[in-house]
Amino acid sequence: MSVPGIDVDVIVVGGGPAGSCAAIVAARAGLDVVLIERGPFPGSKNMYGGVVYPRILDDLIPEWWLEAPVQRWVTRRSTMLLTDTQAMTVDFRSEAWGAPPYNGATAFRPDWDHWLASHAEAAGAQIITSTTVTGLIRDASGTVVGVRTDRPDGDLRARVVIACDGVNSFLAKEAGLYTHTDAKHFTLGVKETLALPEEVIDERFNVRDRQGVDIEILGGTSGVNGGGFIYTNLDTIAVGVVLKLPKLAAQKLRPEQIIANLKAHPAIAPLVQGAELREYSAHVIPEAGLEMMPKMTMPGMLVAGDAAALCLAAGIWLEGVNFAMASGMYAGEAVVEAARANDFGMKGLAGYGRRLRDTFVLKDHRKLRRAPNLVLSDRVQHLYPQMVANTVERMFRVDNPQPKPGVRHILGQERKRAGVKLRNLARDGWAGFRSFG
Ligand SMILES: Cc1cc2nc3c(=O)[nH]c(=O)nc-3n(C[C@H](O)[C@H](O)[C@H](O)COP(=O)(O)OP(=O)(O)OC[C@H]3O[C@@H](n4cnc5c(N)ncnc54)[C@H](O)[C@@H]3O)c2cc1C
Repeated sequence: MSVPGIDVDVIVVGGGPAGSCAAIVAARAGLDVVLIERGPFPGSKNMYGGVVYPRILDDLIPEWWLEAPVQRWVTRRSTMLLTDTQAMTVDFRSEAWGAPPYNGATAFRPDWDHWLASHAEAAGAQIITSTTVTGLIRDASGTVVGVRTDRPDGDLRARVVIACDGVNSFLAKEAGLYTHTDAKHFTLGVKETLALPEEVIDERFNVRDRQGVDIEILGGTSGVNGGGFIYTNLDTIAVGVVLKLPKLAAQKLRPEQIIANLKAHPAIAPLVQGAELREYSAHVIPEAGLEMMPKMTMPGMLVAGDAAALCLAAGIWLEGVNFAMASGMYAGEAVVEAARANDFGMKGLAGYGRRLRDTFVLKDHRKLRRAPNLVLSDRVQHLYPQMVANTVERMFRVDNPQPKPGVRHILGQERKRAGVKLRNLARDGWAGFRSFG
């Protein structure tokens, strides 16, 4: 399709989960939609850890589980705490999560994003690939009226633009919607995809029949603030770390060495033994939630997904795809409303902000607004894991002929040994209770 001169209702920039869901909703309502993706196909450039929570698709794609490109259904969720020599795991499994309507699934992003985009195309959206949007076209009043692309004569005009161009959103920045960006608001996620036979994964992770496992790890990041994860695909596993950018820059280890150290940990090594490296990938994550969010609406433009920093990174939760799909859908709905009212100004597009505020998208972010800083703080990262692991080790150690000491007594001693001030413990406990309670 030749780009020059096209006049459309909606331009969606980016073929990730946010962009495709926006395009599905707008195109199904009869709007003329073009989705522009810089990669050769939607999803081709995208990576993540590996678990998607698609409940939000129930209305958009009824019984999505019958057709979605899923690797395994997550039936086990573990939270693991690592010190150099110790490991403590809280492990949960549910048979209900292995049957419709399911809870979470592991999936590859090229498959997942490509599948979502196929629904946008089926709804009538035109998908233009291998094309990068290089800037915004604005009229004299500053209203966005289209985009520039890297195609010759590639300007494209529209009544509204939905920017779903991911974490570094040049469009939101160009529009002045980000008042500030700061390295401390980002983490770097790096991941190895490791091949293992399906039956070996089943045995090592104690699952069968396409059941999958999600392990979130606190510690194990070689002293750099962040966290780790292990997810099971059908015949590969994803092992990765998420690292706070300023802390990573302040020391000498490279991310691949940090993953190698994690894989060598005594609790992890048996899980990855003999696995063959299939792929190495890395991507930045907008980690700071509410603290870093831009304005998401301006005359002629909406911003959704990671472009609006809507990824929820809160320790035991790393959810971005569902927040992207939801915000994309809500942007699509708001644009349909605006088209009916023939008003793409702030008033006409106000339904977007309202939907974000009234749903889990901003409610979860509000509730968990303290979580990113708390989880990545030095105390939670370096002092508490050691204190907890030592306490548990002593609880279960049998020191006969000594009688068993009380847990409160051990905890008090270990708190002092770890250098944890009671005042800080109480403050962090209260912040944790208000976030997760
Ligand atoms: C290491 C890591 C682990 C993660 N783990 C999970 C997880 O397990 N579960 C989860 O739910 N989330 C996870 N996330 C977060 C999740 O990946 C993101 O929140 C999600 O991808 C956001 O979707 P999006 O559509 O907003 O943006 P993206 O998926 O980044 O899509 C943006 C799209 O826009 C395109 N694009 C960008 N600029 C342009 C341009 N100028 N012109 C044209 N096209 C453009 C890109 O090619 C891309 O296709 C993880 C992220 C990382 C980095």
